[in-house]
Parts: sequence; structure tokens; C-alpha cells
Amino acid sequence: MVPKRIANKRTVAEALDNFRWTRDIHGEATPAMIGQVLQLCNIMLDIHLQLGVQDTHTWRLSPSGQYTAQSAYRALFQGSTSFDPWERIWRSWAPGKCRFFLWLVAHNRCWMADRLARRNMPHPNLCPLCDQEEETINHLLSSCVFTRQFWFYLLQRIGLGSLAPQPSNDNFEQWWWNISSSVGTSQESGLNSLIILGAWVIWRHRNDCVFNGASPSLPTALLMAGDEARLWSMAGAKGLSLVTRHDPTG
Ligand SMILES: [Zn+2]
Repeated sequence: MVPKRIANKRTVAEALDNFRWTRDIHGEATPAMIGQVLQLCNIMLDIHLQLGVQDTHTWRLSPSGQYTAQSAYRALFQGSTSFDPWERIWRSWAPGKCRFFLWLVAHNRCWMADRLARRNMPHPNLCPLCDQEEETINHLLSSCVFTRQFWFYLLQRIGLGSLAPQPSNDNFEQWWWNISSSVGTSQESGLNSLIILGAWVIWRHRNDCVFNGASPSLPTALLMAGDEARLWSMAGAKGLSLVTRHDPTG
């Protein structure tokens, strides 16, 4: 409520002098405004400028008060939200279509039975791969009994069969995050590519069963994974050579 022509010129020292800042306030006095002024008066009572002491700049975005480019850069992201899976998806070696699929998975945007049912659209009553439980994306990619066996055999090729999901792993993202952070950085990007590849193969196999009349088959799915891995590896996928090297069918 201080007019700009005054606020732009007034120094702190001038404003503090004999509560001059209160006389700079213009406009209609509302109860809320009077309350704020009184509150501010109380705070200002304790502030005394020291004569002869030079002003200093304080950068409030770092604890030391010193400006750093890092703190300024971080400030750009204050209040923004981070979305954990982005790094594992986009910083992996995988074809764009597969990364987009995983991005949809992370946002639960795949047209699975649960999603179709919520919209009263035709949908399979039970998971087409195991015929035991309702089909959700988390079931399809981690807790389904078919899928768990698939992950076990796929991960076993790089000696990581023990990382395959357990019946209790009913959240694909969580399982992926857990195993991705349990291996060293040298294995991490290769493992992330392999998880994307595996999820993509499960998805395609599931679509073959739903739309093309195929029957769920572990050997078929694993063969498809091996073929994909060889193609990815030939195209330059780092870390996947481990999979193809241990592939008993190749
Ligand atoms: Zn299932």
C-alpha cells in the first residue's frame, strides 16, 4: 500500500527513521491492513541500524548467504514435483516405442481389464496369461504367476534370477525401483534396458493372446525376448550383450 513513486526511492534507513514507513502507507485502512501494520511495528521495534556499518548483500537461497550458481539453479525447481521412473525409462537403451509403453505403464494409462471395466467396456474377466486374477497392469507385469516365471528365466541369463518378482510384488514400478537400486551402477543401465525389454515382450505376448488367439506360452515369450535382445544388442544397446551371451538358445 506504499505508492511505487515512494517505494522506489525510499531507502531502508530513511524508512526506519522515526517510523517514517508508516506514513508512506496510503489508501483505505481496513481492519486487516491495520492488523498487519501493528504486527510489523512490533517486529521493527527490535531493528536498529548501526551507523557507519556498510550494507552487505545476502543471498537467501543458500545457507551461507553467499551466491552460488548451484543454489540459483536449484531455486528454479522449487515447488516442482519429481517423477521417479523418468530416469530409468528415458536414460535407458531401448527403442522409443518401448519407452513410450513404459511411460504409459508408469502413469497407469494402459487399457487393461480394470480400466475397461471402470468405463463399462468389454473386457476379459480374468488375466489372459494366468486365468486366475483380475488383469491390471501391475498384475500383468509383476505379480502374475506367468510373468514371475518369465522374469525368473530372463533374469537368470545374467545371473540375477533371484531378483525376479515374488507373489508379494504387486507393484511393478516399486519392484523395478528396488532391483534397479540393488545392483551396481555398472549393471544398472543394462538391467533397466532388460526390464523394459521384458515388459515390452510380456505386453506383446498378452496382446497376441487377447487379439490373435495365441495361447500363453513361456518358451514363446522367452524366445521373443531373446530375439529382441539380439536385435537391440546389434543396434548398439549397451549392457544387453550379457543377456545374449548367456542365451542358451543362441
Ligand atoms: Zn495373470
